[in-house]
Amino acid sequence: MEQTPPFPSPEELKSKLADFMKSNFGDRVAFTTLTQPDTVETGNDDKSPPEEAKEFEFHFLPRDIKAHLDRFVIKQDEAKKVLSIAVCDHYNHVNHVRQLERENANGAVETEYAKQNVILVGPTGVGKTYLIKHIADLIKVPFVKADATKFSETGYVGGDVEDLVRELVHKADGDVNRAQFGIIYIDEIDKIASAGNMIGRDVSGRGVQTTLLKLMEETEVPLRSAMDLQGQIQAALEFQRRGKSSRQTINTRHILFVVSGAFERLKEQVSRRVKGQIGFSAEPIRVMDNELFQFVTTQDFIEFGFEPEFIGRLPVRVVCEELSADDLFSIMKYSEGSLLRQYERAFRAYGIAISFEDEALRLMAQAAATEKTGARGLLTVWEKLFRDFKFYLAGSGISQLRVTAELVHEPKRVLDRLLAEGHKHEAVVLDQQIDVFSESFRRQHDLEIAFEKAARRRLVERAQTEKMSMADLTAHLFRDFHFGLNLVRKNFGQNKFTLPLSAVDAPDKFLSDLVVQSYYPVRQTNEAG
Ligand code: ADP
Repeated sequence: MEQTPPFPSPEELKSKLADFMKSNFGDRVAFTTLTQPDTVETGNDDKSPPEEAKEFEFHFLPRDIKAHLDRFVIKQDEAKKVLSIAVCDHYNHVNHVRQLERENANGAVETEYAKQNVILVGPTGVGKTYLIKHIADLIKVPFVKADATKFSETGYVGGDVEDLVRELVHKADGDVNRAQFGIIYIDEIDKIASAGNMIGRDVSGRGVQTTLLKLMEETEVPLRSAMDLQGQIQAALEFQRRGKSSRQTINTRHILFVVSGAFERLKEQVSRRVKGQIGFSAEPIRVMDNELFQFVTTQDFIEFGFEPEFIGRLPVRVVCEELSADDLFSIMKYSEGSLLRQYERAFRAYGIAISFEDEALRLMAQAAATEKTGARGLLTVWEKLFRDFKFYLAGSGISQLRVTAELVHEPKRVLDRLLAEGHKHEAVVLDQQIDVFSESFRRQHDLEIAFEKAARRRLVERAQTEKMSMADLTAHLFRDFHFGLNLVRKNFGQNKFTLPLSAVDAPDKFLSDLVVQSYYPVRQTNEAG
């Protein structure tokens, strides 16, 4: 691994930058011109809240948290319960320690406590992230998620892992104090198990475990990464401006860690052992559920490839179970965060009220279940099913969309039918607007115009193919008609006109013929005769 040289302190950096400016630009440019107050993103400059300004408060009961989760997350009852308790224990302990610190400002506060870091076991798309995110939202702490695989791929493990902690500060809008009570969620933790304890393999996995372990215990993470040149310069500027630097590190003592993974192999490992025990048949076990998970021991995780110290720091363990088609149905119908609400909003934006029959939702749930990606399968199914409906119905004049079983089975046929119906409905509305035009023409010019049937049909046809409103189309076609018809009225005394098809197809010619005819009625008659 490439060793990065230690980064200079803010004071050193300031003087180095000043030297650099001078050697390159002479005395014309001074270092002070770089000063940009109030641009420090994560620090505590004058505008961001002072470090201890916003006190962190926690006052929830496990049942409050579970009730909140029930609104969004379907199933996963055991996980909800276990997480609610772990979160309450964790933050109550934080309250307790802070109380002791306040009472005993000088002395070190020693309390025996094992942090309630969590392992969530479960396949993809069953709500693991969703649970943690909603907990963080409820108790108003910043939340950061990352994949463990990301750390093992890059060489600079330590820095990447520490970036997670700095990201918490970013999520807390620069409030370092609040960041220290955040939640860090690391997915795909099973990918950094050093499989089968094979020496020489998965060294990076073990390296990531060691680095994470340090964070989970307690460590001070520099607010600005040694790799973050901009951050270092900002620190130097801030130092220059204020003569002192603000807080430089984030303590990880009160950060709650949640790790998760599918742990596929764990299932076989444990089911081999418990086969034949009460309640378990000799059949191969298909999913890891909470029943089987009771038999998972710390030793199982060690065999899986985790360091004992690492797994020891994760005392709370629970399973998020697979979601069946019935569960996916419930997610659509009952979860407050359901896709269904998202689609209602999306269609409403186009003036379309979308509604769903249960039978249709059941079919969609079944289709999503075959994707084997949990609730994520719903996204795929919905997107594919509704893509054309969104595209063609938006702006079609259709204001209702009822999602039926037929629509799910034969989306194309239903869409074509809807569009045809929409077309017919639009024609009726356009036809009525011809009368609106006649009426306004009468009021403005005291001339009555009506249209023959064929002329009306042609007007509607043109409005539809040219995608014009009837008002725009008639205003355009008959813009000179009041002049012409007025002349005709003067000559003939006629103020009622019924326009034929030719008046729509060639309005200028029709009008001039009519005017000419009104001046020379005899000749025309003679010619005709
Ligand atoms: P993972 O288990 O892989 O972390 P997520 O929690 O990210 O999966 O789930 C993806 C999305 O699927 C969530 O944002 C949510 O909309 C939906 N979802 C997943 N599980 C559930 C569930 N049990 N109840 C309601 N929605 C869920």
